[in-house]
Amino acid sequence: MSEQTLWPVIAIDGPSASGKGSVAELVAKKFGFHYLDSGALYRLLAYAAHTQSVAWSDAGKLAAIVSAMAIRFDGGEIYLNGEHVSPYIRTEQMGKGASEVAVHPEVRAALLETQRNFRESPGLVGDGRDIGSVIFPDAVLKVFLTAGVETRAQRRYDQLVNRGETANYDTILEDLRQRDLRDTQRSSAPLKQLPDAMLVDTTKMNIAQAVDMIVEAFKKTAKNT
Ligand code: C5P
Repeated sequence: MSEQTLWPVIAIDGPSASGKGSVAELVAKKFGFHYLDSGALYRLLAYAAHTQSVAWSDAGKLAAIVSAMAIRFDGGEIYLNGEHVSPYIRTEQMGKGASEVAVHPEVRAALLETQRNFRESPGLVGDGRDIGSVIFPDAVLKVFLTAGVETRAQRRYDQLVNRGETANYDTILEDLRQRDLRDTQRSSAPLKQLPDAMLVDTTKMNIAQAVDMIVEAFKKTAKNT
């Protein structure tokens, strides 16, 4: 066993706009763990392809872009080849692009090592769609974090409006439905609730309650190992 595989991983998977990112970041802070926002990697790729006029359907060229990407996460900000790109990748357009590039097995394979390298001392919280199934199947705690699609659409709408952007609830709802469908129906690493994952449904729960549930569950697993 390599030293790296000794560091515990908490895997938080779930659909778009379920609150995974906020929850995962707070859980990581609580334990002083590293945090992997795997969706950001797919968004970065969609953005890089867009700037190079490479189609999101071109699996071969996309995989080549991955191998040339220098990615840096710094205090919640994201840099691609030295450029600060956080505002460009957090758009609805890049969310859609991410879910299109993510269907290609070549792309997923190219991003595998990048994600595994985030596992460092003293531990890692990773969020995404396949963290518990493919990236870290040996995660000590697996969580499936979800919420009803209307609740998620409303949260995304509020988030965009608070940022001063124009938003249309019905468009967001339809977009989330399509993204859920793409993420759950694709053949390569589809989003699904694993039999060994704890279900956290945030439809009627706030972020702090979800964080508490996960923190307590992790403490329990830590006690038993
Ligand atoms: O989590 P986020 O909304 O930023 O992810 C954007 C898209 O990237 C998702 O809709 C999904 O298609 C893809 N993704 C993935 N596997 C992951 C993380 C994200 O396929 N581990």
